[in-house]
Amino acid sequence: MSELVIIGAGAAGLMAAYAAASLGISTTIIEKNDKAGKKLFITGKGRCNITNDCDISDFFPQIVHNSKFLMSALYTLGNDGLITLLNENGLPTKVERGGRVFPKSDRSNDVINTLLRLVRKSGARLRLNTPVKRIEKQDEIFTVSLKDGTDLRADAVLIATGGKSYPLTGSTGDGYRFAQELGHQVIPPRPALVPLEDMHHICPKMQGLALKNVNFTLFQNDKRLYSEQGELLFTHFGLSGPVVLSASSFIDHKKQPLSLRAEIDLKPALSIEQLDARLLREFEAAQNKQLKNVMPELLPGKMIHPFLTESGLDPDKAVNSITRQERERLCRSLKAFSIAVADTRPIEEGIITSGGVCVKEINPSTMESKLVRNLYFAGEVIDVDAKTGGFNLQIAFSTGFLAGTSVFN
Ligand SMILES: Cc1cc2nc3c(=O)[nH]c(=O)nc-3n(C[C@H](O)[C@H](O)[C@H](O)COP(=O)(O)OP(=O)(O)OC[C@H]3O[C@@H](n4cnc5c(N)ncnc54)[C@H](O)[C@@H]3O)c2cc1C
Repeated sequence: MSELVIIGAGAAGLMAAYAAASLGISTTIIEKNDKAGKKLFITGKGRCNITNDCDISDFFPQIVHNSKFLMSALYTLGNDGLITLLNENGLPTKVERGGRVFPKSDRSNDVINTLLRLVRKSGARLRLNTPVKRIEKQDEIFTVSLKDGTDLRADAVLIATGGKSYPLTGSTGDGYRFAQELGHQVIPPRPALVPLEDMHHICPKMQGLALKNVNFTLFQNDKRLYSEQGELLFTHFGLSGPVVLSASSFIDHKKQPLSLRAEIDLKPALSIEQLDARLLREFEAAQNKQLKNVMPELLPGKMIHPFLTESGLDPDKAVNSITRQERERLCRSLKAFSIAVADTRPIEEGIITSGGVCVKEINPSTMESKLVRNLYFAGEVIDVDAKTGGFNLQIAFSTGFLAGTSVFN
C-alpha cells in the first residue's frame, strides 16, 4: 500500500492527515514535539481564533502575500466547511467581533482535541517526539531520515512544518531547508504581524498604555504602507497592538535601511478645524492653567509629558500665553503624532512568518510540488500570510485539506 508521511502535527498537518487517511491512504504524521498542536494551543491568547465568518470571497483582501494562489484551497475547504466539520465532530463554535470564530468553550485545547479525534477516526497514525532531520528522494521513493538515526520510506511526503516564529512551539524553519534540499526556492522568511521598535525610545515612557480608536498609519520611505483605525499599545520597546501588527505585514524588508515612520491620529473623529475650535474652547475655559493641566481633557495622563515634549511644547506654559503657532502645532501633533521606527521585533516574535516556499513552484490546485512528484506543502511553510482575524489558521486548514485530498489522486 502507498505510504504518505506528513511532517508536522500543526493545523495544516493534522487536517491533511485526516483528509488523506479518510480517503483510505496509509498516513503517518511525524511530529518533533511531545504533543500535537503546540502553536495552536497558544493561538488567540489561548482561545484559538479558528477562522473568520466573512464571505469566503472576502478572505482574499485579507491575505497579504499570494492570495490568488489560495483560490482552490479556500474554495475546497472554506470557512463554512471547516466550521461544519468541527461542529459535527464535537466542537461548538461562536462568532465574535469582526467575524472572528472561536470554540464556544474559549479553549484552544478543545480545537486540538477535535483535530486529534478526526485524525484517529480517519485511521492516520501520529508519531510524537520524532524530529525529522532530512528528506531525500530516489527512484520515486522518499527517505525521511529521523534524528534518532532511523529512516522511514514513503511514496509521498507532505511538508507542514510551519514557519519560523515562536520557535519554542516547534516551528524552527526546518521545512525551508527540506524544501531547498529538494530543489525548491524559498523566499527569505521575515517576521509578519510583529511589533515595532521605536527609534528614539519615546514609547517606553508610555509603556502599558493602550489607545483605542486611534488611526495608525505606517510609512516606508515616506510612502504610505498601511492605515487603519483601531487599538494600539505602547510597550517597553515600542509599538504593538492589532493595528500595528497588521501594518507590519506590509513592510518591504528588501529595502534597507527600512526607513519606517509611524503616525498616530489621536483624534480621528475630528477634522483639524474642529480640533482647533475644541482647543480654543478648552483654553478659554482654563486660561490660567498650565498646558499640562489642560491636556487631560484631550489625552490619557501617561501620554501628556512625552507627547508635549516630542511636539516641542512647554508643558508648564500657561495656556493664556500660548501663541497661535503653538496651538496649531499642538493640533497637528494630535492629528499626526510621529514616531520613528527603528526596526521590527525579531522573527521569533512575529505572530507569523512571511516568505517561505515559493508559490510558483507549487501547483495551487493540489499543493503538489511542480518540481518533485508526490511532494506536497501545506500551511505556513508556504509563502503566504494574512492579517489577523482567523485567516492564517484557515489558510493552514485549507491548504492541509487540499493537499491531503490530492495525494495519489
Ligand atoms: C501567539 C500566536 C497566536 C496566533 N493566533 C492565531 C489566531 O488566533 N488565529 C489564526 O488564524 N492564526 C493565529 N496564529 C498563526 C497560526 O498559529 C499559524 O499560522 C498556524 O499555526 C500555522 O499552522 P501550520 O500547521 O502551518 O504550522 P505550525 O502550527 O507551526 O505546525 C508545524 C508543526 O511542525 C512541527 N515540526 C517542525 N519541524 C519539524 C521537524 N523537523 N520534524 C518534525 N516536526 C516538525 C512543529 O513542531 C509543529 O508542531 C497565531 C500565531 C502565534 C504565534
